[in-house]
This record gives sequence, C-alpha cells and structure tokens, in this order.
Amino acid sequence: MNQHQLSDNIAKLTCRVSRAAQKNQRAPEAVSILAVSKTRPAEDIRTAAELGLTQFGENYLQEALDKITQLQDLDLCWHFIGPIQSNKTRAIAEHFHWVHSVDRLKIARRLSEQRPLSLDPLQICLQVNISGEPSKSGVSLEALPELAAAVASLPNLQLRGLMAIPAASDDPQVQRRAFRALREAMSELSLPGLDTLSMGMSGDLEAAIAEGASIVRVGTDIFGPRG
Ligand SMILES: *Cc1c(COP(=O)(O)O)cnc(C)c1O
Repeated sequence: MNQHQLSDNIAKLTCRVSRAAQKNQRAPEAVSILAVSKTRPAEDIRTAAELGLTQFGENYLQEALDKITQLQDLDLCWHFIGPIQSNKTRAIAEHFHWVHSVDRLKIARRLSEQRPLSLDPLQICLQVNISGEPSKSGVSLEALPELAAAVASLPNLQLRGLMAIPAASDDPQVQRRAFRALREAMSELSLPGLDTLSMGMSGDLEAAIAEGASIVRVGTDIFGPRG
C-alpha cells in the first residue's frame, strides 16, 4: 500500500476514534490504536511506523517473528492476538510485549515460565468468548473469575484486562451489548491493576469505544482489505 493511502487511512481512523471518544465524554488519548498487521509486508508496517503508529498486532507466529526481525531497528510494541498452541509459547514470551489471546491456564503458566527475566513482565489480556459461540476461542464468562485469579498470581505476567471478538453484527445495539458484557465482566473481577479492554475492530470500533474500549484492534481500515 502506498504511503499516501496509508496516511489517509490513519488520519481518518484517528478522527473516528477521537469522535467516538468525545461523543462518550472520554479523552481521545484513553483509546489506543493497535494496528493489526497480519498478512501485511514489513514495509507496510515500516511506513505506518513513520506515520506515527507504534503498536502492532500479529496472529501468526512465524510470520510475526520474520517481521519483528526485519523491523528491529524501530522501537515498536508487538502484541500477539492469535490462537496460541503450547509449542509456540516460548517464542511468544521472548519476542512480544503483550498477549491478548490467553484463554487457558496451561498457556499462561508456560508464558510466565518462559518469559526472560531480563524483560518486563509480559502484559496479558484474557480472551473471553463473550457471545458464547461454541466454535470460538476464549474462556467462558463462568470460568473467567477462576482463570483471572490464577493468571494474576503468575510471577512474570501482568494481567491487564480482557479481550473479545464478539459475533459479527451490523446492529450497533447488538454490538454494544457484547462489549458492555465484557466491561461488566472486568469490573466484577476483584483484582487490582485491570485497566485494559481490548475490543472493537474496523467494523464496530464506535460501539466498543462507547462501552469503554481502551485498545481497538484495527486491520482493514488501516491497511486495506486482506487478500
Ligand atoms: C484480524 C483481526 C483484527 C482486525 O480486524 P479488521 O476487521 O481487519 O479490523 C482484530 N482482532 C483480531 C483478533 C484479529 O484477528
């Protein structure tokens, strides 16, 4: 994607985020943009970084590691947002700053054990299956409190909050209901230091911001449609 198009997309997105925040009496700085760069070449990420983006989200480990290596001259913050198999935890613990897709204790334990002590704690969001779809990743709302308490006690992780990918809907009321459920689930966890709701993507970020999103994860509306 050329620089002009990318610059245009980022400007429009920043505007959408600010407007959604202000409409809900929230400070625009309270919502950060995570640029979801899965399937995009490292050069597009470099251009986005030149245009001021610093947070990038990746779903596929090997592809992500290649890009992290190619871009190591830049000061970027990398978020892992895809499904995690146990044999991938070491590389994730070594190369990422954040993981949004932790949904079971076994994975959290491995990430904590494998986090190099020379690095800050790995920042964690628990992925919640908020729409209760049987085929989707994420811990159930019922199992969340126990998982959250266990993850919060692991030494090399810092539990920051929750993430969800609700069932797609064009109806803003339906979108908001799912995001509200995630916000309420977080407020019911009696744990200190929870400050992050990772929710909202290109198609529903206004609804997510209205319900308190602190990180919106945006791919298509930054980099264009994925091939
Ligand atoms: C791909 C992806 C996104 C970005 O989706 P867009 O609709 O392209 O903005 C956000 N979150 C997760 C977990 C993803 O896998």
